[in-house]
Amino acid sequence: SAATLRSDLGPLLDQVGTGKESLSFMRRRIRRLAVQWSAAARRLDNRLCSRWREQKRILVHVGFLTEESGDVFSPKVLKGGPLGEMVQWSDILAALYVLGHDLKISVSVKELQRFLGVPPGRGNCPLTGRLPFDLIYTDYHGLQQMKQQMGISLKKHKCHIRVIDSFGTEPAYNHEEYATQHNYRTNWGYWNLNCRQFMTMFPHTPDNSFMGFVAEVMNETDKRITRLNKVDSMAVVYGKEPSMWKGKEKFLAILHRYMEIHGTVYYEAQRPPEVPAFVKNHGLLPQQELQQLLRKAKLFIGFGFPYEGPAPLEAIANGCIFLQPKFQPSHSSLNHEFFRGKPTSRQVSSQHPYAQQYIGRPHVLTVDFNDSRQFEDAVHEVMRTQVDPFLPYEYTCEGMLERLNAYIEHQDFCQVDAPFPSMNASKSWPGNPPSPFILPPNSSALVWAPNITAPACWPPLSAMQLLLAQEGVSCVGSCQVEGLICEPAFFPFINNPEAFTGLRVHCEALEAEVNHIFPAVSVEPGECFLQKEPLLYSCAGVQAKHRRLCPCRDFLRGQVAMCKDCV
Ligand code: UDP
Repeated sequence: SAATLRSDLGPLLDQVGTGKESLSFMRRRIRRLAVQWSAAARRLDNRLCSRWREQKRILVHVGFLTEESGDVFSPKVLKGGPLGEMVQWSDILAALYVLGHDLKISVSVKELQRFLGVPPGRGNCPLTGRLPFDLIYTDYHGLQQMKQQMGISLKKHKCHIRVIDSFGTEPAYNHEEYATQHNYRTNWGYWNLNCRQFMTMFPHTPDNSFMGFVAEVMNETDKRITRLNKVDSMAVVYGKEPSMWKGKEKFLAILHRYMEIHGTVYYEAQRPPEVPAFVKNHGLLPQQELQQLLRKAKLFIGFGFPYEGPAPLEAIANGCIFLQPKFQPSHSSLNHEFFRGKPTSRQVSSQHPYAQQYIGRPHVLTVDFNDSRQFEDAVHEVMRTQVDPFLPYEYTCEGMLERLNAYIEHQDFCQVDAPFPSMNASKSWPGNPPSPFILPPNSSALVWAPNITAPACWPPLSAMQLLLAQEGVSCVGSCQVEGLICEPAFFPFINNPEAFTGLRVHCEALEAEVNHIFPAVSVEPGECFLQKEPLLYSCAGVQAKHRRLCPCRDFLRGQVAMCKDCV
């Protein structure tokens, strides 16, 4: 049947249920954003010209909230624990519901069993018959639980699964055998999914799909009032837990010379938190009250932790400037406890790389906090710069609906990638096969030859621009330098000799191997390598002595998941 956009979120609130502080937090959030969601739904409907969409049967199983995974989050909701995940799950539920799909929600293994049709007490039993869902959104905890419940039949159904994974999973860590053999050890990876089935909180490596969340936008009246009420000398510190303030006395003291400092640090009535006496601490605030505080403040300042949360986007959306430390050297799973064991080698260059890279000045200042002079200059800059509230389109309700809808309509991981035109295909062609690429004049990027019919692909192949990376540079980096983004969906189409020929690469030899940096050419002696294992196509992969073949595409400003021809 057809999916029709919904504007009344009341029934969803009933479905989310009660009984846990985390669920109450999510209900409050959904209720508060209901008006924005329905307005966004109307705008999207207009833009899609009320196009027919299929209604999907969707299960949302929030693994980290189940008692069986220890549910460490719920008790911390009112105590400054991480709320980012809860924010994201609320928004995913709201978006799926607004898009008109048939939704089931589970926060316990019992409910999971019931929805999947596994008889209680009969875990590890193959599901007989069909999976009663088109799509299942879960997390790493939930995936583990599904494996326990479904046994070997998980493998058969796994193309329907989407894993919400804040920090991302790179292909080298995802491929079980490869990760084990090559020491990509983690606590989480090894699931052999298509990496685009992992959905992240921010657009990290494009090997994963960017899910995101939303922040509220102000109407014109609120913007005007906010502008009038801004206090140029008021700062709010990013950090709900006292530990996030530890060792930052020096910066606080400098900041305090110029600004009044506010905090929202959790504390128990008997024991006030250990923050300096000059800090006005409000205690952990409800989201709405935090928002009011941010509307008055001029500066939102991070001291390095937490990494990559929603709060800086909320601050910028409320007209604050976000000041954050640059990390030199970058933090990663190799050198920092927090990232250790996470299935990614991503180099995190500041507390909030998205804010640094995609937003930047005047809304975001990323400086070396160890240089007191730089730090003080930044504080001065904040006080004298006027900024308007800003929110990238991809973090608005409409942006999230558009992106999620595109994924649901176009991403299909149940079809096995048919590499076309592959080496084998070209061998079987009589005579010379037509090249699928052309090199336009004055360009180093190959594009899909307009006279060749593009096979079904999303994003469409018309968006593709193929580059040869410099040695030691990943495809994430090489596409970025050209103002493009790496698109892993295109790898199967460039994993062929014609791609090398088109880029004027002379191959001394041509091999197909299992290695996450292939297709690539070795610098000496110019040996070309194709990829033998489709699960290892990787935008993130990098190695010193190889130049990689990188499939890039254009992206829409403020909606990096989409290209011009994607919509
Ligand atoms: N938050 C809140 N009250 C506060 C401080 C933060 O409700 O006093 C909310 C904030 O609005 C944001 C969420 O907590 O949406 C997550 O914040 P953060 O960026 O700190 O990320 P986390 O580390 O919690 O995932």
